[in-house]
Amino acid sequence: MTDYDFDVGIIGGGPAGSTMASYLAKAGVSCAIFEREIFERAHVGESLVPATTPVLLEIGAMEKIEAAGFPRKFGAAWTSAESGPVDKMGFQGLDHDFRSAEIMFNERSQTGVDRDYTFHVDRGKFDRILLEHAVELGAQAYQGVTVRNVDIKAPGDVRLHVKLGNQTVELKTKMVVDASGRHTMLGRQFDLRETDPVFNQFAIHTWFDGYDRRAATENPKKLDYIFIHFLPVTNTWVWQIPITDTITSIGVVTQKKNYVNSKSSLEEFFWETLKTRPNIHDALKASKQLRPLKSEADYSYSMKEVCGDGFVLIGDAARFVDPIFSSGVSVALNSARIASMDIVPAVKANDFRAERFSHYKEMIRNGVKNWYEFITLYYRLNILFTAFVQDPRYRLDILQLLQGDVYRAERFEVLDRMREIVTAVESDPDHLWHRYLGDMTVKAPEPVA
Ligand SMILES: Cc1cc2nc3c(=O)[nH]c(=O)nc-3n(C[C@H](O)[C@H](O)[C@H](O)COP(=O)(O)OP(=O)(O)OC[C@H]3O[C@@H](n4cnc5c(N)ncnc54)[C@H](O)[C@@H]3O)c2cc1C
Repeated sequence: MTDYDFDVGIIGGGPAGSTMASYLAKAGVSCAIFEREIFERAHVGESLVPATTPVLLEIGAMEKIEAAGFPRKFGAAWTSAESGPVDKMGFQGLDHDFRSAEIMFNERSQTGVDRDYTFHVDRGKFDRILLEHAVELGAQAYQGVTVRNVDIKAPGDVRLHVKLGNQTVELKTKMVVDASGRHTMLGRQFDLRETDPVFNQFAIHTWFDGYDRRAATENPKKLDYIFIHFLPVTNTWVWQIPITDTITSIGVVTQKKNYVNSKSSLEEFFWETLKTRPNIHDALKASKQLRPLKSEADYSYSMKEVCGDGFVLIGDAARFVDPIFSSGVSVALNSARIASMDIVPAVKANDFRAERFSHYKEMIRNGVKNWYEFITLYYRLNILFTAFVQDPRYRLDILQLLQGDVYRAERFEVLDRMREIVTAVESDPDHLWHRYLGDMTVKAPEPVA
């Protein structure tokens, strides 16, 4: 008999927490997930990128994900509200319409990815499947149980205070993994959370039944793509994500100040904003809204630390920027994968000091910095992103980022090149692209350290 309830306590049973539990259980580590909701529960974040595939294969969950029949996602497309004549010059003589772009994942092979598609998922079902999978592998999972606070007495001696009905119970573990998503349980308790200085986005979303996806494309091969529709309002766009054959998730993303200044209700703002893309607006009006509109605000932040003595933060609990490139679930799964590589040996060595998690710290910081820089450059000059997607010199490098293949120590040269161009456009008011500069950054981001 040990006097520990579990080796590792995991706060939250979303994709990050369940994936962590699967890796630990596979390695024979005793672990328990505490999830405050009862699954299935709705969740935002429905479109995956291929970097999820190696993780789903490695933990053995892929067959179950395939069997669930989620729509396959072969590619992504970006469309613009503008039509009519375009400035086709201005970018190294390329003769393209820079207002739209599309990619297919099969254009670039990716280590560990054995299929040319990923999925769009109903997160209620997807998260339940992953949680049940972790339990099948030997993890414990307690639903409807909220972790109130964590007391790290010493590395190797951690107490979780969990709410069970009307009682608060103390559980003893050797370390804790915070996978509580944007609730950032430990980040808040330890005062680690820093609001992002640039991003202050706001999203309003819901599901529609019977939305005619041909409003966005006539091409039947692309009906199951994710579509990002740019709107003619600064930094504002709409996601269109297939959930089933007939159900489509639609979300409007904008700067929070646009919503606040409009002084309108969620309902009014959602529909008024969509009017700037009349074909999409009309097709949505002709379909059936299945759920009330839901908003997500203040979702961009980082943490001063992603690990410490006796604790590790993963998924959204470690960092969240902006959903423009559908990166969140892949970061959740990959942060769990990478952190487990440090946690399993830490359990074997019975050593839970912060130094034990330094590989994770470095890898996740690099990966997320790459995302952050890519997203920042995108918001600063949208047109540069679509130009690079269409330019054969840069297309595969951009695709690598869009696939979520970002966990590497080397720099992405394509980001350097994008930054150089942004700097040139910023410093030259006569540049043809100067008028396309967005207002969300004051300058191009610094190189990744
Ligand atoms: C507007 C918007 C759009 C997005 N679109 C996409 C997209 O298209 N693709 C994509 O990949 N990502 C997207 N994301 C991001 C995605 O939602 C997240 O990155 C992903 O859900 C993170 O997984 P997670 O496991 O870290 O956290 P979560 O999925 O949030 O899971 C955390 C879990 O912890 C539980 N919990 C919280 N606190 C406690 C507590 N104290 N005790 C016990 N349990 C607790 C919660 O109930 C929850 O189930 C989007 C995000 C936003 C805001």
